[in-house]
This record gives sequence, C-alpha cells and structure tokens, in this order.
Amino acid sequence: MLSDDYAIQGVLNEAAIPSLGQFDVIVAGGGAAGVSAATNIARKGHRVLMIERYGFCGGGAVAGMSGTICGLYLSSDRNANRAEQVVFGFADEFRKRLIARGGLTEPQRYGKTWTVTHDPHMWRENADDFLSDTGVNILYHSRVVGVLRDGDTVRGVIVDTKSGLAKIEAKLVVDASGDADVVHRAGWATTKGQDGTIQNPTMIFRLGNVDVDTYLEYWGENTISPEHVIEALIEAENSGNYHLPRKKIWIFPTSRPNEIMVNATRILGRDGRDLDVTDPVDHTEAEIVARHQVREYARFLKDKVPGCVDSYVVDTGVEVGIRQTRSIVGVKRLTNQDVVGRHKHADGVVRCPWPIELHSGQKPKVEWLLDDYYEIPFGTLIPEIGENIIVAGRCLAAEHEALASARVTAQCFGYGHAAAVAADIALRDGVALRDIRGEDVRDILNREGAALD
Ligand SMILES: Cc1cc2nc3c(=O)[nH]c(=O)nc-3n(C[C@H](O)[C@H](O)[C@H](O)COP(=O)(O)OP(=O)(O)OC[C@H]3O[C@@H](n4cnc5c(N)ncnc54)[C@H](O)[C@@H]3O)c2cc1C
Repeated sequence: MLSDDYAIQGVLNEAAIPSLGQFDVIVAGGGAAGVSAATNIARKGHRVLMIERYGFCGGGAVAGMSGTICGLYLSSDRNANRAEQVVFGFADEFRKRLIARGGLTEPQRYGKTWTVTHDPHMWRENADDFLSDTGVNILYHSRVVGVLRDGDTVRGVIVDTKSGLAKIEAKLVVDASGDADVVHRAGWATTKGQDGTIQNPTMIFRLGNVDVDTYLEYWGENTISPEHVIEALIEAENSGNYHLPRKKIWIFPTSRPNEIMVNATRILGRDGRDLDVTDPVDHTEAEIVARHQVREYARFLKDKVPGCVDSYVVDTGVEVGIRQTRSIVGVKRLTNQDVVGRHKHADGVVRCPWPIELHSGQKPKVEWLLDDYYEIPFGTLIPEIGENIIVAGRCLAAEHEALASARVTAQCFGYGHAAAVAADIALRDGVALRDIRGEDVRDILNREGAALD
C-alpha cells in the first residue's frame, strides 16, 4: 500500500515550471459538479478554466457509466405511478438539454422512487455545449498534481500534461475532482468512508441486442431486481457455474433501442478485502476483477434472462465506477442524522430526496426518505483549512451513510451551482469564501432557478 500523503508539493521548484496562464477561477474536474460550477461561474462573467484528466466531461456519470440522473424525484409509497420532481436548478437545465438531444429516458421506477437513464456519449456532448456556450476555457488530458499556495492561501495548481508539468494561477480554485485531490495535494485533512473503508466500486456495462419487451415482461417495470431474479441469481451461483457476488442488482433500459444498462458487479479484492481506489495497486486490481465479473453477469443474463439470449456486451465504463474516496474536513459536516431526520437548514444550498444507497457488505442497503427530502448546508463545501478554495461534488464533508445519499448526480450539479454563486460573491465583494453566509448563497440560488423555497 502507498501512503496517503503521496503528494508532490514541497519537492518542486515552482520557478522552473512553465506557466499556462492566469484565470479568475480554476475548476479542477469535469464531473457533474465541475461542469455545473464552471458553467455557472462563467455565466457571471468570470474567466474560468476547467481542468479534466480525461478527454471528456462526466466523471462518475460517464467514465464510470453511472448511467442515470438520480436525486431529482421524491420517494413515496403514494402516487406510485407518478414521478414527482423536487430538485431543479442546473440539474433540471442539464436534464432538459439531454432530452432535447434524445439522450434521456422517461422516468423509470427505482424501488419507491424514480430515475432517468442518460446516454453517456450525449452527456459528454451536452457538457461540451454548456461549457462552450458560456465561454469556459477547457484543458482536457491534464491532471492536477499539485497546489500553488502561500501558507494556507491557494493561488493556483500544478498540472501534469503530456508535455510535462505546468502551473496555472487563479484567484479561486473549485475542487470538483470527486476525490478532493486539490485539498489532499495541499496537504489538508480528509476522511475516508467508515474508518477508512469506502463503498464498493461497481463496473457498469451495457448489453446490446436485447429484446427489451420480452426482458421487461420477465423483469417487470422496477429497475431493482425483483425476488424471482434474486432467486435465479442465487441458484446460478449455487450451481457453481457462475460467480455472481451481488444478488440485488439494478438494470435500466436505455434511450437506445434494444439496449439495457447493468449495475450489478460488486468489486472486492481477489482475497475478499475492501479496496481503496485512491491506492493505484488496489485501483488496478479493481479494474481487472471488474472486467471478469462483467463477463459473469453478462453470461448469466444471456443464459437465464428472457430477451437477453442474443445479447452482447456493448461496452463498460471507461473505468470502474467509484462511489466514494476522500471527503473533506469541512466547516460543517453532513451527518447521517441530517439525512434520516430530513433536516432542513437556513443555509441549505442543495436539496436531496435520494435514499441512503450504501454499497458495502453482502448487499446494497437502501433506506428510503419517504415523501420528504433533506438539505445540505453550505459549510460542507468549505474546507476547515485553506483560503480561496471551495469543493463541489461528492468530496463534500459528509459522514459515511450520509454520503451514500448525497453523492448522486442531481445533487452534484447543485453543489457546483452553489460553489459558483459563492465564487461570484467572493470575487465581486472581495470576501473570503468562508465568510460568505450560506443564507445569501441560498437566496441567489433561488433567484437562479434552484427552487429551494
Ligand atoms: C457504480 C456507480 C453507480 C452510480 N449510479 C448512479 C446513478 O445511477 N445515478 C446517479 O445520479 N449517481 C450515481 N452514481 C453517483 C454519481 O455518478 C457520482 O457520485 C457523481 O457523478 C459524482 O460527481 P462529481 O462531479 O462529484 O465527481 P466525479 O463524477 O467523480 O467527477 C470528478 C471529475 O474530476 C476528474 N478528476 C479527478 N481527479 C482529477 C485531477 N487530479 N485532475 C483533473 N481532473 C480530475 C475526473 O476525471 C472526473 O471527471 C453512481 C456512482 C457509481 C460509482
């Protein structure tokens, strides 16, 4: 195992590193949170650079092929046939533009709530359009590997590119890396899951040439595996012919004909240990184990599930899907009690109706928040230490189970929007990010369509 402080600052001579320029704001990472943050900051007239290690946006939603926009709709035992949307703002804008380009399904039942399945390729195009339309500067294929800082004040980042290292300066940095890479590389504290154990990764895959009507007749409308499928999975596993460690699995018909998207694998190390994907050795093992497991589930579906007999694996995520890595130590922390108690906060900047969907142990635990939602306070985005830096996305300060709810895509769009509003206030009024009142951010988010009140 590599040590957790495998960082490079402190060993570099900054003066010797070429500069790639100066910006008002750097957004590190182009997942849902980063795309939202960069777009919304640029809309306010600031010069923004978004840095992304891949050649496309989407992060967990696209490279990890998480596949659906969760967190838009209420969970309920009532109104079983209607999806009630309670989250709006940038998530809704993104949703509508995906629909316009044919890249999103109608709401699909997921247990007691609903979700919508997106086309990962169109997600990328959608993100490119949002960023280009608002004049965001984009640097793909560049990874943030260090932080320029004077004491606790951030003044830019160091990126690793094909041409070597480069430095980029900015008045503010948004850490939207999902992994809190900027905070970590600055040397500030982060936490990881439950005493260091994080949720299991999953390699998602798409299956083509499926007779979806026949499949639906067998499976039913609910995307979570029904009892008879769970029994079939157990029977197949017990036969000794298949390795299917997870029995509660999700399958979503996609926006393309004859195709389903399968969220089924549960990735542990070959010796059965939980993997920590911030460790490159564990991360590598996760990818290899995952590809084997994809084949096993694809074989099971082909052999045992009606409609899938002529199916084939279209693709997997570009990488194994990572639900959780580092969370920052924030000015505030979203607690498990905040989530199960559906707590609302005067400084709540994002609303979340998504259940606790915890992937650890033998089967995923889903705890519904029926007919209600909770709010995430602004201070969860502000690191306890560090000036001119704010986080957006799944690396916010949250307890383990709380994060298993608050990490989903609609909310990540919301964190990005909240970070953008705060960045604008900080730049416009010359205030430190940590001195901004969450109540003021909430007011502006409301004026910009977030519909929090
Ligand atoms: C298997 C799985 C299934 C899921 N299912 C769903 C689902 O069905 N619906 C749903 O809504 N959510 C789902 N989620 C959760 C959701 O996909 C993520 O939590 C969400 O996408 C996180 O968004 P983010 O912007 O915070 O981070 P990420 O999506 O992780 O984005 C971070 C971005 O930063 C980039 N990056 C990272 N480090 C650096 C660096 N040092 N320099 C430059 N770039 C960097 C990454 O490449 C990435 O693009 C799932 C997640 C997983 C793993």
